[in-house]
Amino acid sequence: ERIVTSDFIDEDVDLETSLRPKHLEEYVGQDKIKENLSVYIQAAKSRNEALDHVLLYGPPGLGKTTLSNIIANEMGVNIRITSGPAIEKPGDLAGILTNLAEHDVLFIDEIHRLSASVEEILYPAMEDFSLDIIIGKGPSARSIRLDLPKFTLIGATTKAGRITSPLRDRFGVLARLELYTNEQLKEIVERSAKILGVEIDTDGAFEIASRSRGTPRIANRLLKRVRDFGQVYGDGVVTKKIAQLALEKIEVDKIGLDSTDANMIKSMIKNFGGGPVGLDTLAATIGEDANTIEDVYEPYLLQLGFINRTPRGRVVTKSAYDHFGIPFDKE
Ligand code: ADP
Repeated sequence: ERIVTSDFIDEDVDLETSLRPKHLEEYVGQDKIKENLSVYIQAAKSRNEALDHVLLYGPPGLGKTTLSNIIANEMGVNIRITSGPAIEKPGDLAGILTNLAEHDVLFIDEIHRLSASVEEILYPAMEDFSLDIIIGKGPSARSIRLDLPKFTLIGATTKAGRITSPLRDRFGVLARLELYTNEQLKEIVERSAKILGVEIDTDGAFEIASRSRGTPRIANRLLKRVRDFGQVYGDGVVTKKIAQLALEKIEVDKIGLDSTDANMIKSMIKNFGGGPVGLDTLAATIGEDANTIEDVYEPYLLQLGFINRTPRGRVVTKSAYDHFGIPFDKE
């Protein structure tokens, strides 16, 4: 498995729960979102209402689940966590909704993967806090309307464009999470180190941050790995030198790229003259899932300016040629 994947992997299990900030002020970065949410939360609380439904979108590992937990915590309510694929039938969702308490948060991860029949009962639930259910079969079947507690739905998705518009329209708050800056990631690494009892200096933290692809999940994972090298090769303190040594050993380069990124870019250059190459063609060539390329590989490569998206496909930029030491002959 890739150490720099932004997807959740097995080794994150215990790590993530212990490192999750619980309050808005501990949540690093995403300042605009935090500022607005804090206003909405205060206002809802002072009116004694449930918070508006919130849609969070952005690449994996940027803190959507974390932020949802914080919202529930700040509202002083419980959170129920589920995901699009886990809700198979309308009855599953009905069961969840009827068990919520007043003002509770329902968090649905990968909300773009809800089935159409489930989505349909979500509309009146979000809008009127009611549930239409059919009882019985055949001629004796009748529809009854159940009142639901006023709840807050928080939906998370990697892309807002994957959500149907009737669903999107029912969210009062839409927030796009951005990749984090190295400075912000450094803060996250330092905070995590403190919680884990790891001694780290500023340069060490910055070294890990700058190889974390703008993603807190990756920063925490790298910190955990670097800590081991600090214990074995150093005196337990994570310095810049230790971080560099460790990240070299686990083959994460200076800007957070690994062999998978290198193979993808080199294949685009070798097989397609640097592009444009369509997403599906690229996926087939490197044997990867197109969604994974789009959600997990690409956001950081786009941010680095190593690839561009054009109407005719992906194009490798000069910066990427330079990084991999391949002569750029297109000027
Ligand atoms: P997502 O739901 O977007 O995939 P998560 O909320 O699971 O991402 O975040 C992954 C990990 O990164 C969490 O365990 C948390 O410790 C850390 N994290 C994410 N965002 C922040 C943040 N803004 N500040 C501090 N830690 C964060």
